[in-house]
Amino acid sequence: MDRTTGRTFARGATRFAPSPTGELHLGNARTALFNFLLARRGAERFVLRIEDTDASRSRSEHTVGLLHDLHWLGLQWDAGPGREDGLGPYYQSQRAALYAQRFVELERQGAVYPCFCSAVELEVARHAQRAAGRAPRYPGTCRDLSADERRRRLGAGQPATLRFRVPAGQHIEFTDLVHGAQRFLSDDIGDFVIRRADGSAAFFFSNALDDAAMGVTQVLRGEDHLTNTPRQLLILEALGLPAPRYGHISLILGPDGAPLSKRHGAASVREFRERGYRPEAVVNYLFRLGHSSSAHDLLGLQALADAFDPQHLGRAPAHFDEQQLTVWQKHAVHRLAPEAARDWLAPQLPNGLDPHTATAFCAAVLPNVVLPEDARAWVDIVFGPAPVLAGEGADLVREAGSEFFAAAARAAADGGDFAVIAAAARLASGRKGAQLFRPLRFALTGLGHGPELAPLLRVMPPGETERRLARFA
Ligand code: GLU
Repeated sequence: MDRTTGRTFARGATRFAPSPTGELHLGNARTALFNFLLARRGAERFVLRIEDTDASRSRSEHTVGLLHDLHWLGLQWDAGPGREDGLGPYYQSQRAALYAQRFVELERQGAVYPCFCSAVELEVARHAQRAAGRAPRYPGTCRDLSADERRRRLGAGQPATLRFRVPAGQHIEFTDLVHGAQRFLSDDIGDFVIRRADGSAAFFFSNALDDAAMGVTQVLRGEDHLTNTPRQLLILEALGLPAPRYGHISLILGPDGAPLSKRHGAASVREFRERGYRPEAVVNYLFRLGHSSSAHDLLGLQALADAFDPQHLGRAPAHFDEQQLTVWQKHAVHRLAPEAARDWLAPQLPNGLDPHTATAFCAAVLPNVVLPEDARAWVDIVFGPAPVLAGEGADLVREAGSEFFAAAARAAADGGDFAVIAAAARLASGRKGAQLFRPLRFALTGLGHGPELAPLLRVMPPGETERRLARFA
């Protein structure tokens, strides 16, 4: 039973809890994916919570972007923005009243106290501790102020944060889903802020409280939060709330070993989407980034969930490699159904192309396309002017000779498909294999490589095949 709501949760839940302070980057997308898969694997709920208590850094356009990116990746949440289930609201900025109740509860217990230290005073204390070779932690300046003194300062309007009084001499232990047994000493943790001076809840507090209030039972999150966990466990314990099981996943590093960021090129989901990456490719790649799996195929989300195992999450940092993403992209593109391929390549297609030809064209060039821009050259080749030959192409066409092309052009004029055209050229010249096909390919496309010719010719404008062949007859 959950003590915050008095409600018993029939099912466990995982969650993704982004702060809308920037675009969804690949690291966070992977965190969202892993939580989504963990939920689907265990038939649990996947909760999306927007952590926007820091008004100065949160932007609504980032929230809009996050929701859009998650939709695009297919990571549909069971509860969250736009999907209320009675445990929301799912924007932390709308939960201030719930936090306020809990602050009062902690104040009554004496588990917290107001801290009047200014940013400068805190910085001076940290500096002195570092200079003395000690790890910086709050020195406890306001911990034992008298009740009168507190009242006086508060009455005088002195700004105050609310600090959690960390109990002395305790061991805080938990088993991390990735890192195993963890043990922290409370004496190493300074009293920490749970309410900012402007009255808003600080991360440690709202994040832990909401997990409990929303029935979250398992949390996969970035390794940078591992040392926050003991603080959050202390808060939950003080409030008598259940703690989720935490798993802290490794960072994603760029090829140079630094955490993946803008300077490595594209790092946000939006950028990959705009470059034409398929969502199936992105999730399949992220699934293998820091998670070992014997599943080597391109899998749908439910199959990924079935294959997901938190025990296979690595402790070592994962290295982002765009070439690997490209491999998954190829798998994803080659599996596209004809209409889906047409929709994907639509921005590259000439205006006014009829849907039937557009679909057939996309199906024809798909084996040679990784990103949509790769289709552009084939649009020009098929629908643009006849390619001018030079170099190897010109030589091969000349060697094949005019009778070869006259026969081929005649077959095309009679409406023959590529097999008929090739048969006619073969009969006229006695050529076969590469000797037969390469001159034809060069004459028709200007290139010595490319997609299969038969489907390509079927979408060329009427008469174009004959015209291109007849040039060399
Ligand atoms: N809002 C926090 C972040 O984006 C969430 C951390 C967590 O998952 O607990 O880092």
